[in-house]
Amino acid sequence: MVTVKKLAVVTGGSKGIGRAVCIELAKAGYDIVVNYRSDEQGAAETLRAVIGQGAGGKTMRFDVSNRDETQEAVREIAGSYESVDVLVNNAGIHADGLFVMMPHEDWDAVIDTTLRGFYNVTRPLLEKMIFRKRGSIVSIASVAALIGNRGQANYAAAKAGLIGASRALASEVARLGVRVNVVAPGLIETEMIKGAPIENIKALIPMARTGKPEEVAKVVRFLCSDDASYMTGQVISVNGGMF
Ligand code: NDP
Repeated sequence: MVTVKKLAVVTGGSKGIGRAVCIELAKAGYDIVVNYRSDEQGAAETLRAVIGQGAGGKTMRFDVSNRDETQEAVREIAGSYESVDVLVNNAGIHADGLFVMMPHEDWDAVIDTTLRGFYNVTRPLLEKMIFRKRGSIVSIASVAALIGNRGQANYAAAKAGLIGASRALASEVARLGVRVNVVAPGLIETEMIKGAPIENIKALIPMARTGKPEEVAKVVRFLCSDDASYMTGQVISVNGGMF
């Protein structure tokens, strides 16, 4: 059993917002389990950056939408670390298209990654947090959940579901020492938005620019910290002023 000062599990940590979250939490003194699905090199790069901050950790490959894979991985985490202090449900995909033409595979893949992923990872780790009466769970939703972007019915449904699940869970565990919050980013410069009509979308953003992964990660770090000790069940937008 490994005893670390504080442990954070971050899903989808091989790039983008997830990598920035891993680095911010490492700066805050957490050792990090960097989950990834396919980008082993990216995850290793994240871990190097985490170690560069003086923290420890490891990479773990599992597909959060796959119940068996996740169960095995989470069992290993729970068995090898004494505590899990923070969980960041960040893994996500999009498969955009008009609903009327959307193949069921695209509907299922997006919903499964976000919502099955939330269940598969959160439920077993939550047991560990409840046992210690301490923990913080932050899930990454999207502005799409709040405004319902055209061409993103699957993504908006998944992210809105994540908000509902988080709020319900927050009220179930508030008295057990576990806080559950959501961050809803706007347009953030990562691989996910490559190919999106960024100039057109910028016109809709009051700050007239895209956000950086670090700007999301700092808010996640705050929500995970004791500075946010009276916050649970909240959805915090990080989107350059859209509402
Ligand atoms: P990226 O595409 O850059 O990164 C996505 C990450 O999620 C990768 O590490 C990827 O792993 C991982 N991932 C995807 N599916 C799975 C899975 N089934 N199991 C485990 N890991 C998985 O995206 P962003 O950094 O932009 O997005 C991070 C989160 O923020 C997502 O939930 C996204 O929906 C949300 N978001 C992003 C916005 C943006 O504008 N960028 C806006 C609003 C929300 P690998 O590469 O190893 O496959």
